[in-house]
Amino acid sequence: MLRKYDYDLFVIGAGSGGVRAARMAASKGKKVAVAEERYLGGTCVNVGCVPKKLFVYASQFPELYKASEGFGWNFKTMPSLDWKILRNNKTKEIERLNGIYQDLIEHSGADLFNSRATIAGPNNVTVNKTTYSAETILVATGGWPFVPDFQGKEFAVTSNEMFYLEELPKKAVVVGGGYIAVEFAGILNGLGVETHLVYRGPRLLKSFDKEMTNKICEGMQRKGVHFHFNSEIRRITKTSGSLNVTLDSGCVLDADLALYATGRKANTEALGLENTAVVRRENGSIVVDSFFATADPNVYALGDVIDRVQLTPVAIQEAMVLIDHLYGDGATTINYDNIPTAVFSQPEFGSVGLSEEKASERYTDVQIFVSEFRPMLQTLGGGGERILMKLVVDGETDLVLGCHMVGEHAAEIIQGMGIAVTAGATKAQFDATVGIHPSAAEEFVTMRSQVR
Ligand code: NDP
Repeated sequence: MLRKYDYDLFVIGAGSGGVRAARMAASKGKKVAVAEERYLGGTCVNVGCVPKKLFVYASQFPELYKASEGFGWNFKTMPSLDWKILRNNKTKEIERLNGIYQDLIEHSGADLFNSRATIAGPNNVTVNKTTYSAETILVATGGWPFVPDFQGKEFAVTSNEMFYLEELPKKAVVVGGGYIAVEFAGILNGLGVETHLVYRGPRLLKSFDKEMTNKICEGMQRKGVHFHFNSEIRRITKTSGSLNVTLDSGCVLDADLALYATGRKANTEALGLENTAVVRRENGSIVVDSFFATADPNVYALGDVIDRVQLTPVAIQEAMVLIDHLYGDGATTINYDNIPTAVFSQPEFGSVGLSEEKASERYTDVQIFVSEFRPMLQTLGGGGERILMKLVVDGETDLVLGCHMVGEHAAEIIQGMGIAVTAGATKAQFDATVGIHPSAAEEFVTMRSQVR
């Protein structure tokens, strides 16, 4: 059969969303190409979720060693960290995953170009100096860390560099109050680095439930992180190897490393979008409709580059919706309302649905159930950590609107709660569920007294 186009689908960007879209389209018999100029697997696999979680594990050992004493273990002296072993083992694991991604793409039947691709026109993509025609182009180019302009910006690093540091710093300043700042502050502190978190606002993770985020802050403080709220960096200067970080209060922090975790911007520069009708917002992200169509009928976009919800599982779900829309029966949907999410802070945070504040804006009879208790590990292990759990319920319908947890295994536990909230479970159904004992999770089905 003579083809009108070289490809049915040309995907630019082999991150979580792009690869899922490419594989699904290929499995439906479509002729697919994927171009990736950097690393296979995108931010999540290379400089995001995966290596971050490995570092979180690494940073938790000192506390576990300490707790183990109460269980009879005696390590004599605290073992020391070899940063290079951690970093290099992490890199080996990432390279293994890159290989798996390569196999996944190639075995799907898609053509893989390990090069930068640019859009030459609504149906044309240029890669390696050759222009290919494609019926549909998918832009899944993700995002890139954003660092604001200030004096000494060149001395700041971003999350990208954190995974490849030559040496672990002794003192670090982390700037920002979002996911990445909070997670890296916990990692650095756990690895033994004196860590200062500087945030321009009054509280961390401001879009989440206030009571929960206050608990995270309290827990981080107890573990040793120093907080500087309502503070901005005025300048960073370098003096014989170390950095002087001057805050707007005039306070100067000396550090070996300044990490800026001040958000991420869509990767849309020099992509050739000017050769299409694609519309971008001021921050560079691409405007799409509910089926990820841009203003150009042949160009689609999804994942971080559309700046809706910058989470890997969301990009993957978006890819499944798009491919089903283009080549299937269109029955797959995405609901952005109840997306479970976790911040791998220390203590860990998991959340699904509405915060107490957001529920109170939308509903008149909001019932709040809270449970706070000491994790069982600490009965013998010591330590002052408390687990905090909260259910936000609509008193009129008994629907559970939100489910939040700060404490060990919060991500694992909230994933299950996410199913319940998505399914529209009521508080009565939570109460009718038999708990698993002894566990922290059972508290979610035994919260009987309404606190507010
Ligand atoms: P976030 O948007 O979460 O946070 C950015 C932070 O930087 C905010 O506290 C913001 O402050 C602050 N900020 C922005 N601009 C400036 C500025 N000019 N000066 C000082 N501070 C500034 O972005 P992150 O970089 O932390 O993470 C990006 C995204 O990646 C997250 O939103 C999340 O979706 C995803 N991610 C998910 C993870 C997970 O699932 N566990 C882990 C890591 C990232 P303000 O609030 O005042 O605007």
